[in-house]
Amino acid sequence: MTPFEVNSSIRTAGSAMFSCHGQGVVRGYAIGRAELLGATQIEVSQYAISVEQVEAQQQRLRDALLEAEQEISALVAQLPTDAPKELAALLGVHSLLLQDPNLRAQTERYIAEHLCNAEWALHQQGQLLQAQFAAMQDDYLRERGSDIRQVVERVLALLKQSDHSPAQVVQVASPPSAASPYESKILVARDIAPADMLALRHRHFGAFLTDLGGPTSHTAIVARSMGVPAIVGMGGMRTLIHEHDLLIVDGFTGEVIINPSELVLAEYQQKQKEYLSARAKLESIRDAPAITLDGVEIQLLANIELPEEASEAYAIGANGIGLFRSEFLFMGRKSLPSEDEQFEAYRYALEAMHGLPVTIRTLDIGADKMLEGEQTLATNPALGLRAVRYCLAHPELFQTQLRALLRASVYGQLQILIPMLSTLEEVIAVKQAIVAAQHGLKQQGIDYVADIKLGGMVEVPAAAIAIEPFAANLEFLSLGTNDLIQYVMAVDRGDAQVADLYDPMHPAVLRLISHVINAGERFTIPVSVCGEMAGDSSLTRLLLGLGLTKFSMHPAQILDVKREILMSHSYALRTKLASVLNRGERVDSALLH
Ligand code: PEP
Ligand code: MG
Repeated sequence: MTPFEVNSSIRTAGSAMFSCHGQGVVRGYAIGRAELLGATQIEVSQYAISVEQVEAQQQRLRDALLEAEQEISALVAQLPTDAPKELAALLGVHSLLLQDPNLRAQTERYIAEHLCNAEWALHQQGQLLQAQFAAMQDDYLRERGSDIRQVVERVLALLKQSDHSPAQVVQVASPPSAASPYESKILVARDIAPADMLALRHRHFGAFLTDLGGPTSHTAIVARSMGVPAIVGMGGMRTLIHEHDLLIVDGFTGEVIINPSELVLAEYQQKQKEYLSARAKLESIRDAPAITLDGVEIQLLANIELPEEASEAYAIGANGIGLFRSEFLFMGRKSLPSEDEQFEAYRYALEAMHGLPVTIRTLDIGADKMLEGEQTLATNPALGLRAVRYCLAHPELFQTQLRALLRASVYGQLQILIPMLSTLEEVIAVKQAIVAAQHGLKQQGIDYVADIKLGGMVEVPAAAIAIEPFAANLEFLSLGTNDLIQYVMAVDRGDAQVADLYDPMHPAVLRLISHVINAGERFTIPVSVCGEMAGDSSLTRLLLGLGLTKFSMHPAQILDVKREILMSHSYALRTKLASVLNRGERVDSALLH
């Protein structure tokens, strides 16, 4: 079967209306127009410019077009005499396209009208022309669409060389206009790499849809932090949806309705209204402490990817940051962040939390989160040199991060978290690296907090099974269930084809979680869950029943989880679950209610 058949189903209803299914990973509804993400689009930087900068951007475009023409002339001049005639003809076509007023003049106009940079304007214009060619009857003309693409890519490459935009370039775009409910854009892609998601977060998409990916893929995680509905694992959906199609996205069921009828549209508008009003009601528990019916106080912490998100976490009443994925500061850029840049980012998060604990995880790079330009040689990157393994293999990079963290520690209550531990030797090596960083700072007379709490992520089954030495040598533990499930079940967390086997409720997974929580109790150290399980309110009772008292999740999920906690009886849940776990049976969710 093709992935499409496995992962999605289509039904036709009426003329052009049809629907596709995938896995809803962020709940909510969205109604908007499709924006298709091309293979190269993501690399095109996009930023807003002022009216005064229009001429400079238009000049950049003219220079790049001229340079591209010169490149092509040089290629033609160097063509060997026995080169096929078609090659010279093709280059001739490219040269003509570069002079095409549609491309040149309209791109200049786009810059002025949309106040955006030259590459974005060119990219948009190129997409438009390609779409026009694709619609032509004549085979020859239709194929010219790919020439447009090649020419545009050549000019984009030249523009990239002259790009002096700010580091965080992708941030244009007009916020969705309130004028029409369908002006919200729904991004439709085959796949979106985590670094690209990061770049997209400054645009205002109403929802994300991808053909690939699983519920805890980093794409899904970043979509969640953006608080918009997302559906992954949609099989071949990307090829069925056209640019500007009207879409209804149901993040609860994972259904996307393409070109809905008026009746269906009205139904979903009503659902969306009801959902938004239910969410508004949740606001009433924002300031209430999260205490179960039997009086157990639960800590609700936030997961963040960028320092700015700490303010949102504080505003929503999070008890601290349970996971700051520091690698997002390193991704999607050509050079590594300096010690000073990192220091500022960590300090920002610490200050934004006003003295509440801020747990910053050291660089968890590798697997699907690669540094720009770095190719992995591993046949199995998820089992390779990632996270703490990578840091210990790159001591300079690790020292820079540790120094930045220590320097920031005086601005709040910092905790350092080590990802993907599998041996005690790694803990010892990290401790030595911290001592070395402290030593360097002391010699330079730079302040830091000497007794920062050091914790470890339990993501590797080996660490979970033999947890005691970790519990004895660390000051807190955090269960990274996203990876733990992947490794326990031998299921790639980002692979839609096996997503049905990625099972947080599997008895083996629950036993490991329970085992680690119990070890935390015995060693009197706090244990949290910071994987996506913690923010899934349908699993809140289950985690309470396993004895969890610290949940770390995306800020947008905190109120939903809090509502479940306020209605749960922790002791009763623990008793019910204990016997099921002992028997190694599946937990029937009815048992928890
Ligand atoms: C996890 O694995 O559960 C986790 C929180 O880390 P990440 O999702 O960043 O791998
Ligand atoms: Mg992980």
